[in-house]
Amino acid sequence: MIQIESITKRYADGTTAVDDLSLEVPDGSITVLVGPSGCGKTTTLRMINRMIEPTSGRILLDGTDIHSQPVNQLRRSMGYVIQNAGLFQHRTIVDNIGTVPRMLGWDRARARKRSLELMERVGLDLSLAKRYPYQLSGGQQQRVGVARALAADPPVLLMDEPFSAVDPIVRKGLQAELLRIQAELGKTIVFVTHDIDEAIRLGNMIAVLRTGGKLAQFAPPDVLLSD
Ligand code: ADP
Ligand code: ADP
Repeated sequence: MIQIESITKRYADGTTAVDDLSLEVPDGSITVLVGPSGCGKTTTLRMINRMIEPTSGRILLDGTDIHSQPVNQLRRSMGYVIQNAGLFQHRTIVDNIGTVPRMLGWDRARARKRSLELMERVGLDLSLAKRYPYQLSGGQQQRVGVARALAADPPVLLMDEPFSAVDPIVRKGLQAELLRIQAELGKTIVFVTHDIDEAIRLGNMIAVLRTGGKLAQFAPPDVLLSD
């Protein structure tokens, strides 16, 4: 479980990006942060893996302050997926997915086996293994991004508008795939989007943020819909 306790982030120029935000992300669920551009979604996500430090408040992972363990160890327990996938352009698909396992010291054969396994899991044809990212469609690149984030089997996935750059039909496929993966693997997922339909489709819990970084609502989708 991730517990966000009264987190505020004020940037150096005085912008309050996140304002006294508290919420809980239960294990094995998808919590969606939704709201207009600039409402503090990315800032919140980056505070969870300590790319950004909060001005005040704290974040607990399984009951322990995320600052009480080395940052590298924390990040190994959290896969990160961004818009446009952020793949390494000079590495093949199989090597992109195997990046973290290789960093963890797995030998090439084991990392490769794991990569191919993950390609299947995210619905990528194995014939793409030796291609480079530019040879894949946008939707396929996002699948690679998801596979790469899953490679070292982290309990937590942080996803920042991962499907926003692909067309609506492909996006539906990716959303369905994520729900399937979630049902099989039971990851704890924090998913950022500005698209309320996507939030409702994916979220077990939805945190609606408004401009200025305040939490407007934190509810399951059916409750949100009835308001
Ligand atoms: P979102 O992900 O919801 O679009 P962000 O978390 O990226 O929102 O940004 C929240 C607010 O903080 C915005 O007003 C943005 O302009 C501002 N902001 C983001 N990063 C910085 C920064 N490094 N310095 C100053 N302001 C920033
Ligand atoms: P989408 O409709 O998902 O955006 P694209 O039209 O980009 O798909 O690509 C369709 C197919 O063509 C995909 O299977 C992709 O792997 C392949 N493809 C796209 N660009 C290249 C390329 N530069 N080299 C080889 N195959 C490519």
